[in-house]
Amino acid sequence: MPQIVRAFLGLGSNLGDRRELLTSAVRDIPDKHAISGVYETAPIGGPSQGAFLNLVVEMRTSIAPYDLLNTCQQLENSAGRVRTEHWGPRTLDVDVLLYGELELDDPQLTVPHPLMNTRAFVLYPLADLAPELLSPHWREAVSDQAIVRVEDLSC
Ligand code: ADP
Ligand code: MG
Repeated sequence: MPQIVRAFLGLGSNLGDRRELLTSAVRDIPDKHAISGVYETAPIGGPSQGAFLNLVVEMRTSIAPYDLLNTCQQLENSAGRVRTEHWGPRTLDVDVLLYGELELDDPQLTVPHPLMNTRAFVLYPLADLAPELLSPHWREAVSDQAIVRVEDLSC
């Protein structure tokens, strides 16, 4: 029997029909277990660009870590993501936030995601699904970042 792992993906979009892009990506995620609320945030770093919609999906999966990264990149490609400037606007970004207890320090796949504890757009949706995985003080660490919960996805 393959081992079933609790993995979390972080999705974001700030270009095009953000809600539709997120909805179709979430529909295509295999082994979905739960979907967080949707949060709107201002972009951090990079050029001047529009606001993001973000959410987190929890999976219960036996897909291996690098295969899961590949799945994320396929979702980005399906959304027509074009890689231009670093941290520029994107139709869809899909990151592996957590993969069970796994710790990987590889530039191709770093888990836990190195920036997750400093990003409101990761922590708020993750707290919807797995508050027990977060530090009790996570809110304070991101209190400088404006974030609002908007309407849930209808999928
Ligand atoms: P970012 O998400 O930081 O804005 P990109 O989406 O352009 O940047 O990803 C750049 C690279 O980050 C990818 O080629 C991927 O191999 C690598 N990467 C490292 N760790 C992860 C992770 N946990 N999830 C997704 N991509 C990752
Ligand atoms: Mg990414």
